[in-house]
Amino acid sequence: MKKKYITFSKNIFIPVTNVCRNACDYCGFRARSFEDADVIGVKEFLDLVHNRGEATEALFTTGESPELSHLSSFFKDRVIEAGFTSLVEYTRELCTLAIEHGLLPHCNLGMLSTDELKELRDVNASMGLMLETTAELEAHRKSPGKDPEMRLKMIEEAGRLKIPFTSGILVGIGEEEEDRIHALEALKSLHERYGHIQEVIIQPFSPKPFTPMWKKKQPSFEEMKDAVRAARELLPDEIAIQVPPNLTSPKELIELGASDLGGISERTIDYINPESPWPREAELRRIITPFELSERLPIYPRFVKKGWYSELLSPLIERYADEDGLRRKDGI
Ligand code: SF4
Repeated sequence: MKKKYITFSKNIFIPVTNVCRNACDYCGFRARSFEDADVIGVKEFLDLVHNRGEATEALFTTGESPELSHLSSFFKDRVIEAGFTSLVEYTRELCTLAIEHGLLPHCNLGMLSTDELKELRDVNASMGLMLETTAELEAHRKSPGKDPEMRLKMIEEAGRLKIPFTSGILVGIGEEEEDRIHALEALKSLHERYGHIQEVIIQPFSPKPFTPMWKKKQPSFEEMKDAVRAARELLPDEIAIQVPPNLTSPKELIELGASDLGGISERTIDYINPESPWPREAELRRIITPFELSERLPIYPRFVKKGWYSELLSPLIERYADEDGLRRKDGI
């Protein structure tokens, strides 16, 4: 079903660390050695925040469970130097600083325990974890955190905690069409129980140099269309289907039911897909014409109205949201 408007948000992208315990065959983000390992420092983070432009969202992305990586000593040293003991404790501090500077955090830190979700809940407007797939794939053979059951369990815990949540599937990483349907059904079933999923991303695999899947073809546009069509048919209307406009052509996918273009940043790059710049807002408007573009916050209107956010976030949400729960147009 077509929506009246197509949504997006304005963010700054914060790669907290590229140290990761997994080694997904398609990943160009994770550090492979001590030489390319990194943890963002507080000063570097504040520089990004001060240069946020019109962004309302601070998107925190990291490698998963860096404390369990073969590069954990690098990660721990950097975090201890900053005065913290874990990824979650450090990220919570960065989220708090982001809020103080007028940004609504959205954390996607990979697998988290229930206690860790609780620790981050009140400083996040929404959180996310890509399910990616429910199939056991070759691409994940060195990635213990990509166990589908574990990931579904975490998404379920987020539902129990009433955290507005983003998930999604990856298309073209070795899964079959029925695997994609199975993954979408699993997300649907969790949403039916907890009502917490705000959007499902349909993300195409995009090959990265120096990775085992560098020579693998991207999924065809037909496969993307099939995946969006299936998602729209399967998932309830209240869940937005998101397609990333820097990785695929959104207009035809909007005609098939996609209604959100995710976060775009005018000040930072997509650190996961650095070769694919986001279109600017004016360009996005042009590409999707005649559909209308509306800016939203990292928390969807439905959850703004339901009050699924903490007291820490209410001053910002009240400042930024209009009566429909979208971003106010008067620039405040
Ligand atoms: S895709 Fe994510 S989980 Fe997999 S290796 Fe890269 S950073 Fe780690």
